[in-house]
Amino acid sequence: MGGGLAGLISSICLQNEGIKTLLIEKKEYPFHRVCGEYISNEVKPFLQRMKLYPDHLNPSALTRFNLSDIKGDISEVGLPLGGFGISRYQFDNFLHQKALNAGVNVKTKTEVNDISFHDNLFRVSLKSGEDITSEFVINAYGKRSKLDRTFDRNFIKKKSPFLGVKYHAKIDFPKDLIGLYNFKGGYCGISHVEDEKVNICYLSRKENLKKYGDIVKMEKAVLHENPILKDLLTNAEMLLEKPEVINEISFEQKASIENHMLMAGDTAGLITPLCGNGMAMAIHSGYLASVAISDFYKGKIVDREGVELQYAKEWKENFSTRLWVGRKTQNLFGNQMRAGLSVGFVKNFPSLAKKLIQQTHGEVF
Ligand SMILES: Cc1cc2nc3c(=O)[nH]c(=O)nc-3n(C[C@H](O)[C@H](O)[C@H](O)COP(=O)(O)OP(=O)(O)OC[C@H]3O[C@@H](n4cnc5c(N)ncnc54)[C@H](O)[C@@H]3O)c2cc1C
Repeated sequence: MGGGLAGLISSICLQNEGIKTLLIEKKEYPFHRVCGEYISNEVKPFLQRMKLYPDHLNPSALTRFNLSDIKGDISEVGLPLGGFGISRYQFDNFLHQKALNAGVNVKTKTEVNDISFHDNLFRVSLKSGEDITSEFVINAYGKRSKLDRTFDRNFIKKKSPFLGVKYHAKIDFPKDLIGLYNFKGGYCGISHVEDEKVNICYLSRKENLKKYGDIVKMEKAVLHENPILKDLLTNAEMLLEKPEVINEISFEQKASIENHMLMAGDTAGLITPLCGNGMAMAIHSGYLASVAISDFYKGKIVDREGVELQYAKEWKENFSTRLWVGRKTQNLFGNQMRAGLSVGFVKNFPSLAKKLIQQTHGEVF
């Protein structure tokens, strides 16, 4: 359920193992998403092995990281692994084509309304009224969906204080750099994607928008207080008609299994964007979910309980520490004093700063 990175990757991997797979996505490709579009290189060898690395789209190579406090004071650190920049518009569309080529049955413009489990089978109810049955379900419907309410998940009951905004732009900005610039109540990431395009993506407390009424006024009043952001944003030639905006971004803990369904990508937990690791986690967890299910069909796991235990264990080992570190680190951002301290920390202790970045990333796989 859900054709973002976790859903696309898991469906391709399952189909490649000879398992008949259906992928359901409510939108139609290609489409834009709010995302910083920096992908950690920890997943590059996997994508290359699977012939899913989008070389022909010329992703940017990102190796340096700049951090500024609210006043624009900067410190720089090399990225231990580095990453690549590619728009979700292109990357998800490319993976969608790969899924079709692999033989996945992809239903787009199709929304899932409910999923129930009886007699060892799932019944997936679509908004159209159609019902589908399936032996396994991977939920990869992202950070927030009506389905979370249907499944009565705990995190959905709490209001989240964050909103996210994304632009594509032409700006004079170093090709190998990820800039992370603090402002009051948030931070903005800037880096190249493909075709000389630059991604500008920020996370802000919702109070900022409430106080200034609209995005443009909020940016002028709050983001422009940081001189680096003021300079970059006022000189940017914006390429999208309007920014992509999402509300209610939650970093609360979630379960990796719900009523026998395997939860992958943001559906199992969203890492704070400053870590730049959510996409790698979506790809990796989608792969792990597919392995648990294909191990069952290969006879390596004997029953459903074994599938769930294997996936929950792998998920915990690979992702729970970095989600925790991400939540703690985010507290250092969006506040003048704490952001200033973190810039000082990166300047004075570059090797410790690298270690902290490593803690929010996983091993190459
Ligand atoms: C502001 C911000 C900046 C970020 N920057 C970065 C970054 O630079 N690098 C990084 O690695 N990560 C970043 N992330 C995180 C990253 O975007 C996510 O972790 C990643 O997109 C998760 O992929 P996914 O497949 O789990 O979910 P998604 O990509 O969100 O896909 C979920 C899909 O499910 C579909 N769907 C939802 N409900 C239904 C339904 N009922 N029926 C059918 N389909 C449904 C949706 O339409 C969607 O296509 C950022 C996140 C935010 C908020």
